[in-house]
Amino acid sequence: MRILAIREKTVPLASSLRNANIGFGAMTASALVVATDAVREGKPVNGLAFDSIGRYGHGGLLRERFIPRLLAAKPEDYADARGDNIDPAKLWAIAMQDEKPGGHGERPGALGLIDAAAWDIVAKLEGKPLWRVLAERFGADGMAPDGTVAVYASGGHYRPSGDLDGLKDEIRRYVDLGHMRIKIKIGGAPLAADLKRVEAALAILGTGSALALDCNGTFDRARAFEYLDALAPYGLAWLEEPVDPLDFELHRELAATTPMPLATGENIFSVADARNLLRHGGLRPARDWLQMDISLSYGIVEYLRMLEVMAAHGWSRRRALPHAGHLLALHAAAGLGLGGHESAPDPTHLIGGFPDGVSVEHGTVRAPEDPGVGIERKANLYAVFRDLLD
Ligand code: MG
Repeated sequence: MRILAIREKTVPLASSLRNANIGFGAMTASALVVATDAVREGKPVNGLAFDSIGRYGHGGLLRERFIPRLLAAKPEDYADARGDNIDPAKLWAIAMQDEKPGGHGERPGALGLIDAAAWDIVAKLEGKPLWRVLAERFGADGMAPDGTVAVYASGGHYRPSGDLDGLKDEIRRYVDLGHMRIKIKIGGAPLAADLKRVEAALAILGTGSALALDCNGTFDRARAFEYLDALAPYGLAWLEEPVDPLDFELHRELAATTPMPLATGENIFSVADARNLLRHGGLRPARDWLQMDISLSYGIVEYLRMLEVMAAHGWSRRRALPHAGHLLALHAAAGLGLGGHESAPDPTHLIGGFPDGVSVEHGTVRAPEDPGVGIERKANLYAVFRDLLD
């Protein structure tokens, strides 16, 4: 099985929404196709991958470094043991040759796209959904055997106008879709205004454990403690990225102070950084949540290493809730027995909703049975790939 071509393009994801830290007015993402000479049911097998959100497209790195290395490799260098499929770990190693350790920057997101396309090919050639391939190879005890996995709805961004009414409408919409747990943004307004957002959300959701808050890493030490104090009475599901994601000492201080569950990890992009977070961040395995974004942190090959590090530090996979609602996270959460994953509920967005026809039932979804990752089954996302597949 030979890789014939690798094509990528940058896709706009612009919106007027804001979190506490950034606006999404110029946001982009990469779409990637790895074309192979394999054929199934009369059609060529292509690996498709679409970026996560929040770090812009990765086209420059893909074009200049990673795609040329893969196209220069021999098929036997990335073949699996049987010789009739790709070994994603071998492909990963080829892409990473001549790359120094540390300083991970934007590189992990580029690798994550290659990794996702490789796993899409693996699953398509096995004729199985990716979650099932992962469950067979790397599954954990106690996983749902049918691909059912918990999801939570992520939204509640700041709006340019009508913020509070818009927030309430949005939360009602998510509840109507079947969501049981919802996360909204906080920290982009003064505390009093943010507490009004929390109260508005709780008036609909009824209980604090159904609401999580995302601070997007903006607070300094004083403001973090001010918010911890003000939010303590609500019994919230978790407080996410209250402070800079790389300030492990401040995480340790917060975790030692508050009973409120903390969540972080979406801006931790490597196993080395994840290890440092667990060594030095003071996070509590029975209470807190780890949200490393699989696509932005070198893909599933590296995520499996992160799960090993988590286990070595006493963390269950059930405390892993990968960032961003992309399809790769759905398959990984279902196939690796994670605690669930973040979902952007609006299916009209490219990174939103689920494959067409998959719906949320009581806060869970059942990952589909189609071979691969299933980008082909999300019509608006698949349309982005049309010119890459010609
Ligand atoms: Mg977040």
